[in-house]
Amino acid sequence: MDNLFTIIGYHHVTEFLLPISKKLYISVADFEKEMDLLVGQGIEFKGLKEVQNYKPSTQKSLQTVLTFDDGYSNFYHHAFPILRRYQLPAVLYVITEELGQPDYCTREMVKEMHKKGIEIGAHTLNHFKLSTLTQEEQWKEIYNSKRLLEELIDDEVTSFCYPYGDYDETTVKLVQKAGFHNAVTTEIGLNHHQKCDWFRLARVASEADDTKKRIIYKAVNGVYLPNTNL
Ligand SMILES: [Zn+2]
Repeated sequence: MDNLFTIIGYHHVTEFLLPISKKLYISVADFEKEMDLLVGQGIEFKGLKEVQNYKPSTQKSLQTVLTFDDGYSNFYHHAFPILRRYQLPAVLYVITEELGQPDYCTREMVKEMHKKGIEIGAHTLNHFKLSTLTQEEQWKEIYNSKRLLEELIDDEVTSFCYPYGDYDETTVKLVQKAGFHNAVTTEIGLNHHQKCDWFRLARVASEADDTKKRIIYKAVNGVYLPNTNL
C-alpha cells in the first residue's frame, strides 16, 4: 500500500494581512482556522525527522509536514503558540545570517523553540540563489549553516530548504555531502515514502485566501485544487 506524505510551506504569519503576496502571508486568524480545520480532518502531522524515521507499513498512510521558511520572528510570536496549543510538530528553516536581525528570530528564540519540539532546519547563511554561486560558495552556504545551527541548538540538523526553491545537480550533491538527510523544493506533489527523492521533496504553498475545500485538498494531495469557484 502507499505510504504518502505532503509538505505545506508557510512564510509569514502576521496579525494583519498585507496585500503583498498571498503565497507568503497568512493572517494569524486564518492560520488558526486552518490548523483547526486540518486537525478536525484527522490528518496526521509529523516533523521531517519523524517522517523519515517512519517505518512504511502495509496500511495506506498519509502524513502532513508543516514547514515555515526563513525564520521570521512572527513565527515565534504567532504560529508557534498556535502549534503548541494544537500540539502540532513543525519544521522552521532558519537563515543563519538573519538571526537577531529586525523581523527575524533571535538565537534565543530558536533555542527555546527547538527545546519545545520545533524541528530546526537549515536555509543557508544568506539566502542566495544557490545555482548562481560557485561550488565553493555553495558549500559554504550549505555546510556552514548546518554547523552553526547545530552549535546553537546542540542537536543534529538534518533538514534543508533550497532558497527560492532554486538548486542544480551540484547543489543536491553538496547538500548530501554536508550530511543532511532531506531537502525541500517548491515543486508540488505527493511524496511517496518508498520511492521519493529525499533531496527533492515536493511541497505545496499556503495561500492567504484559501477556502476550506482548497486547504484540505492541498494537505491530502500535495497540489492545488484545480481552479474552480470553490
Ligand atoms: Zn526562503
